[in-house]
Amino acid sequence: MSAINLLILDDKEENIISLSALLSDIGNINIISSTDPNEALKICWMKDISIALVDVQMPEINGFEFVSLLKSNSRTSHIMAIMVTAISKEDKYLIRGLESGAVDYLYKPLNPEITIAKVTSFIKQIHIQEEIIQKNIELEQSKKALIQANKDAEQARRSKEIFLANMSHEIRTPINGIMGIVHMLKSANLNPEQIDWINRLDNASNSLLLIINDILDISKIDSGMMKIEFEDFDLKAMILEFDKIFKFKATNKNLEFEVILDEALPQYVKFDTLRLQQIISNFISNSLKFTEKGKISLIVTNVENIGDQHTIRFVVKDTGIGIKPEAVEKIFQAFEQGDYGITKKFGGTGLGLAIVKRLSELLGGNVSAKSTYGQGSEFSFVTTIQKVEKSTHEKEKVRLQYTQLPKLDKLNVLVAEDNELNSFMLSHMLQTWSCNVKVVRNGILALEEFESNTYDLILMDTHMPIMSGFEAIKEIRNNHDLGKRNIPIITISASVLEHEQQAAFEVGADDVIGKPFNPVDLYNKITKNCSSKNENNITF
Ligand code: ADP
Repeated sequence: MSAINLLILDDKEENIISLSALLSDIGNINIISSTDPNEALKICWMKDISIALVDVQMPEINGFEFVSLLKSNSRTSHIMAIMVTAISKEDKYLIRGLESGAVDYLYKPLNPEITIAKVTSFIKQIHIQEEIIQKNIELEQSKKALIQANKDAEQARRSKEIFLANMSHEIRTPINGIMGIVHMLKSANLNPEQIDWINRLDNASNSLLLIINDILDISKIDSGMMKIEFEDFDLKAMILEFDKIFKFKATNKNLEFEVILDEALPQYVKFDTLRLQQIISNFISNSLKFTEKGKISLIVTNVENIGDQHTIRFVVKDTGIGIKPEAVEKIFQAFEQGDYGITKKFGGTGLGLAIVKRLSELLGGNVSAKSTYGQGSEFSFVTTIQKVEKSTHEKEKVRLQYTQLPKLDKLNVLVAEDNELNSFMLSHMLQTWSCNVKVVRNGILALEEFESNTYDLILMDTHMPIMSGFEAIKEIRNNHDLGKRNIPIITISASVLEHEQQAAFEVGADDVIGKPFNPVDLYNKITKNCSSKNENNITF
């Protein structure tokens, strides 16, 4: 602790000497004195005085006036002034002293104990005040550091989002090409061996897409951008669909697969079907991955219902390798796997269950895992789901290959896409539907083509060199020719980020399709936006 400067102002030298002697026992103070109030004022200005003991009766400037002068100046107003007086202890003097800004009184003849006790207590107060000031400075500094850290984190989050958007675009564009060609090959006349190759290629590109989707999902959830969308659907049919898909996969691994459905389950419900499927298929896919022999069961139970609110438990049980007890807690954290030997043997990113946990929270549910190492595991998802009556809007779904769809009456389509594989694939699909297709590689060429010929539809990639799809759309929507500028435009974007898709609508796109897309979805979007042509709505 630093020493405190204490000033004694008294017109009588002997008083100063006796007071100084009295205070000399108090440690950590420098005593400075003066018999002249004017000189004392200068000292207060020049030196860092914390306490002033001020005699009241002085010629020229009395103690009250001196303290008032101290208090009226911002450089000296912080000084604690204690009046030292021989005059009466009457209230009017006391009040005058306090009004002038003094904090206390000492009465002559001075009582040594009281004097020392008072001065010591004010020194303590000053030290406390100093500490408070220091703490405030530190607080202010850490507040600034915190604000900066927040800014940095926000900047990092934005950079991550931009990076993910770009990465997703860069990876999705070639996957889109690969998957499109796979679709095309599937409709070609192939021998059984070639069909097997194509199926393997299809599986590999689907896995690649799943990984990129997982990375995007976790970052969307983390940045609060994951949207939950409730819709009416047939719950029992959805569960039986799992039976079909996974029984086939399980049989390929010589595993049994069973689905046990509780009779009390509601048939039709309102929930986020996509996310529910994601959670259950994640559990089942893991079980398939980590089970070499035995059985996988999907058990769906109606735990209870209050009115139309059903508490439903989805359990996936397997007879697989199991998980060590110490790992069970960790596996719902991002990038965590049971143990690192597992990654080497089975692969995986460790994101699946982290996504499942976060999705379950978004859906107001709960996930948990039980396992006996070496014997098997059990994963559950429990949530409340609303029962509904059969949806009347539900259209009967027709399952067709894109090659089986009705022709599109020589629709003239301008395709602006810089990626050769994608434009090749788009042209092929459009030609299969009897469209006339012209392909250009950037926004400028798209504008030139749009000006000089007549088109019924533009399929516009958003990211292109020289002029982006967004800029080209803006130009088209500003065209002087009313007939031309209202041409239907569907943007094709590899970005799954909602704001980027939103941006496409804002510049004037009629619809957006993500990459990779299902050819039937593209067909449906074309027919929807070129309404005069075809009203079919087909599900692939
Ligand atoms: P990954 O993509 O690595 O499988 P997950 O998040 O889906 O990521 O799973 C994390 C870890 O949990 C896995 O690596 C594995 O160790 C363990 N795990 C998940 N499901 C099972 C299961 N059914 N049987 C054994 N271990 C499992």
